Amino acid sequence: MVAKVNEYFKLIENNYLFVDIAKKVDEYQKENPSAEIIKMGIGDVTRPLPKSVIKAFKAAVDEMADYESFRGYGPEQGYAFLIDTIIENDYNPLGISLDTSEVFVSDGAKCDTGNFQELFSKDNVIAVTDPVYPVYIDSNVIAGRSGKLSDNGEYENIVYIPTTKENGFIPSLPDVPVDIIYLCYPNNPTGTTLTKDQLKVWVDYARENKAIILYDVAYEAFITENNIPHSIYEIDGAKEVAVEFKSFSKVAGFTGTRCAYTVVPKELKVEDEDGNDVYLNPLWNRRQSTKFNGVSYPVQRAAQAIYTLEGKKEILENIEYYMKNASIIRENLEKIGLTVYGGVNSPYIWVKTPKDMDSWSFFDILLDKAHVVGTPGVGFGPSGEGYLRLTAFNTLKNTKKAMDRISKLDI
Ligand code: PLP
Repeated sequence: MVAKVNEYFKLIENNYLFVDIAKKVDEYQKENPSAEIIKMGIGDVTRPLPKSVIKAFKAAVDEMADYESFRGYGPEQGYAFLIDTIIENDYNPLGISLDTSEVFVSDGAKCDTGNFQELFSKDNVIAVTDPVYPVYIDSNVIAGRSGKLSDNGEYENIVYIPTTKENGFIPSLPDVPVDIIYLCYPNNPTGTTLTKDQLKVWVDYARENKAIILYDVAYEAFITENNIPHSIYEIDGAKEVAVEFKSFSKVAGFTGTRCAYTVVPKELKVEDEDGNDVYLNPLWNRRQSTKFNGVSYPVQRAAQAIYTLEGKKEILENIEYYMKNASIIRENLEKIGLTVYGGVNSPYIWVKTPKDMDSWSFFDILLDKAHVVGTPGVGFGPSGEGYLRLTAFNTLKNTKKAMDRISKLDI
């Protein structure tokens, strides 16, 4: 007997995109030690945790020091104090009611969006918008749903729905039957959004075709325009077809602290081989109870503090800070004749490469001539070729400096 590997890992593209970029940047820095590189590639934040969050975090850590208030294993689904606060603040004001048992607190939307596919049959056909947050695809590759990677950069069994300037970044419904649809709005990487009517098209499609939508709203807090849904459950009937993932990472600086949640409505169901209904809420509960032991108590108290009056004020300051960076990026790039998308309801700016050059060539020019790191659009899927993503998460000072440098380039 020999221990054997999960063969599907061989199908996965060699490296995680951001590892490739980090390697390239490290090599460049070694060759050019004096270059002051500004990173606007990876979506990590720069502002620290808000004061109210730190206060609650510390108080909860102190509770852990006493016999009376010490907490061991918490509920796998999350503490009710946090779940109820989430429902009251993120859903009830939108006219959406949820039961405590429909919200699952976790240590990240990356894990949840990656793990949720475990609930579905291996035969399900997966659809993604292209370009796409890589986790949706890679987790399905590892699970054996993708087939091989073709020369055109697409996995043979995954349905790619292009979102490009040609269709105004509005994905059209798939022309082949699909079972599971990943949607992310405001979108990473393009920074674009869907209106309520545009999202309704997808909810209606899922209801008619018994498909499930996995809806990622990691960037919901950055929405500034009206008529952009803050939750898919604003659309009639969405509770029958959609799971929603949300993260505290970007809005409140939790990228290193780790806290997120996933909503799995009780109505949501799929079928087993015999055509019997199987409800996803108890299934996800079972999955989490088996493989996950909950987010730490102090982190959940810290997350709860985001929803206090003080917390809300501080979060708003964070968002305004990053969105100011986004508008600085947009304005400066437009001034030098580049075409940009996003950056209005999201911290991502999706830049069309000049002179139709490919993504990596533009990446190299920015790194070499401006010492600015972006993310090549093609790294997010074939339809990302010819684009580059910049993020608004750096400091205001660095963002301005980066734009000054890029403005001086002859591109
Ligand atoms: N979903 C999207 C679309 C993201 O862009 C990211 C992070 O970049 C995540 C989820 C991950 O969130 P978390 O930090 O909660 O794992």
